[in-house]
Amino acid sequence: MRATFDNSYTRLPARLYSPQPPVPVAAPDLITVNAPLARELGIDPDSITAEDLSGNVIPKGAEPIAQLYAGHQFGNWVPQLGDGRAVLLGEVIDIHGNRRDIQLKGAGRTAYSRGGDGRAWLGPVLREYVVSEAMHALGIPTTRALAALTTGETVYRETSLPGAILARVAASHIRVGTFQALASRGDTEGLRALTDHALARHAPDAEGALGLLAHTVTAQARLIADWMSVGFIHGVMNTDNMTISGETIDYGPCAFMDAYHGATVFSSIDRMGRYAFQNQPDIALWNLAQLASALVPLIDPDQEAAVTAATEVLDRFAPAFRAAWLARFAAKIGIAAPRAEDEDLIVRLLKAMSASGADFTNTFRALAEGDASAHVTEGWADWAADWQARLAQEPGDPATTMRAANPAVIPRNHRIEQMIEAAVTGDYAPFHALNAVLARPFDDTPDSAAFAAPPKPEEEVQQTFC
Ligand code: AMP
Ligand code: MG
Ligand code: MG
Repeated sequence: MRATFDNSYTRLPARLYSPQPPVPVAAPDLITVNAPLARELGIDPDSITAEDLSGNVIPKGAEPIAQLYAGHQFGNWVPQLGDGRAVLLGEVIDIHGNRRDIQLKGAGRTAYSRGGDGRAWLGPVLREYVVSEAMHALGIPTTRALAALTTGETVYRETSLPGAILARVAASHIRVGTFQALASRGDTEGLRALTDHALARHAPDAEGALGLLAHTVTAQARLIADWMSVGFIHGVMNTDNMTISGETIDYGPCAFMDAYHGATVFSSIDRMGRYAFQNQPDIALWNLAQLASALVPLIDPDQEAAVTAATEVLDRFAPAFRAAWLARFAAKIGIAAPRAEDEDLIVRLLKAMSASGADFTNTFRALAEGDASAHVTEGWADWAADWQARLAQEPGDPATTMRAANPAVIPRNHRIEQMIEAAVTGDYAPFHALNAVLARPFDDTPDSAAFAAPPKPEEEVQQTFC
């Protein structure tokens, strides 16, 4: 692989990471390389081999490390997490001048593996590949998938499964939990170095810890609104799974809703519904409050003044989320220039959808045709009359606005599960078919029609697993 690495994380204090060559695997075999992404990174896709991205060979200029972080998992403090099965190969500057991390997920045990085997199996690797690339095509900030490969080794998860590695690309892998790890150790000097590094990478125009907090508050408010607008449930919004960049990270037990219900939870480990669909904005704010706490020592030497200043910044989350949510959902019903009172119209539709058990994606897609009565069986006529009256005041073409805001296809759970089942038998055709249709989620094609169908009762996925 010919890549020009420019590694900056390894210039931070050594206690933030641990040098970690990937553990070689028996027989690496590429499943797919994301050629357009490789080119964006300035890498000739044809130069990428399975050896490079399995860790069997360390590409020239790479400086593999495992990154330290901590975090709150389901609200419980865990003082040390870190990359237990991922290795950051290094950073490249992409063709747009942006710094991007290249990380191998499933690359073997590290200093932070605790009891884990450091590996990943094929199912979650392909799920992350498909869903992260789908999110990108939907226009939602996310880590990307550069390649997926099998290792030729077996991984044990209650049963024997094929081992795999995902080469992941991110604006950075700096998490709320990265700051928490340093704050909990009383390492103010480390916090300062990480803050300067994060500012340079993600908010070059912002200043100091408060500026970084404000940047993250805004970026996360927009991100969560983006998720909600496509019915996405992250499933494991622990503070170690929330980025400073505002990119979606960690596609574990994530899922897109079929029928719309605000309380929907899929993750098998989320027994209390902490990370239910409608809880996501509140949880994001809770996580941001943990970031604010970690940054307090840098904000002001007077702790009380620091807390006041941080709280003022956290208070910007609710209005930022609300504005982003309104813009997204207004566009979904054909309103390009939303007014505050449009919120009521949107909420009424969502309530009617929930009462009808309407499919989230297909209902909104049907709106561009002016009629979603096949989906919204409860209260459609009343709502539609008010909606049409409001659309009459719109200057542009509402149908165009709606087609650009409402995808025809999303990565549905049952399709993902079917794709994984096939891949385990060596059939990657469903994986490639899904990637192809999800690359153009707003297009109506014969393929998209086939993939738009909600699950039949026997296909329905009840639970997702990490
Ligand atoms: P996650 O739930 O995916 O955010 O992971 C939480 C923590 O567990 C992170 O520190 C991971 O690196 C670690 N982890 C997850 N799976 C493994 C594994 N198979 N081996 C070692 N560490 C793991
Ligand atoms: Mg994680
Ligand atoms: Mg995970």
